[in-house]
Amino acid sequence: MRIDIITALPDLLKSPFETSILKKSIDLKLIDLHIHNLRDFTKDNYKTIDDNQFGGGAGMVMMIEPIKKCIDSLKKERIYDEVIYMTPDGEMLSQKISNRLSLKGNLIILCGHYKGVDQRVRDSLITKEISIGNYVLSGGELPAAVLCDSIIRLIPGVLGNPESLKEESHSISSDDLILVEYPNYTKPANWRGIDVPEVLLSGNHGQIAKWRLEQAERRTNQLNQE
Ligand code: SAH
Repeated sequence: MRIDIITALPDLLKSPFETSILKKSIDLKLIDLHIHNLRDFTKDNYKTIDDNQFGGGAGMVMMIEPIKKCIDSLKKERIYDEVIYMTPDGEMLSQKISNRLSLKGNLIILCGHYKGVDQRVRDSLITKEISIGNYVLSGGELPAAVLCDSIIRLIPGVLGNPESLKEESHSISSDDLILVEYPNYTKPANWRGIDVPEVLLSGNHGQIAKWRLEQAERRTNQLNQE
C-alpha cells in the first residue's frame, strides 16, 4: 500500500513512522510512505500556504492552490482510491473504516492547520473526511498518524502474530454485537496479594474461551450503559 501525506509540518510526522510497527511496515516494504511539504508547492518567496478568512474573524485558512498542485502532481503518477482530509467534523474513525481502508492500494491524506482548509478544497479535491474524535487538535498530523497506525497494523505481514487482530476490542463479535476485549494478565500469577483469575491458570481452553467471552460481553455492556 502507498500512503502520501500532505502537511505543512512534516517534522511532526517523523517519529511515529521511525519507531516500532510503523517503521517495520516501511522496512519490510509493505508500506510505501511519502510525506509532502505543502510549502514546496508555493511559488512566492515566503512559502505562504494560508491567508485571512473572507468575512473576517480570527484564524488563518489554508489556500486551495498549493493543495491542488500537490494533489495533481501525485494523481499524475497513479490512481488514488481515496483523498482523505483529517477534520474534526468528518466521519468518526472506527475499526470498520480502518478495515476497509487497509484493503486499498493508494491513499492521500491531507492534514489541515490553523482554521482548516478553504471549503473549495473539501468540495472539489477530497473524497473522504475523517475525524479521530469530538475534540479539536491544532493540526491534522497526529490524526493522520493515528489513522495510518490503525490501517497499517491490519496489513498482512505487519504484525508478528496476525491472530492477535481477531481478539481485539472492536473486532471480537458475538451474536452480531461487536465487543471490547476481555482483561489480560501476565506474570506474576500473584502480585502483592492480587491473584490472576484461576480459570486462566487451569489450562482448560474451553473454559478460558468461555470466561473471556463473558468478560468481553460484561465490559461491553458496562460501556454501553455509561
Ligand atoms: N476550524 C476547525 C478546526 C481546525 S483544527 C473546526 O472548527 O472544525 C486544525 C486542523 O487540525 C484541521 O484542519 C484538521 O486537519 C486537524 N484536526 C483537528 N482536530 C481533529 C480531529 N478531531 N480529527 C481529525 N483532524 C483534526
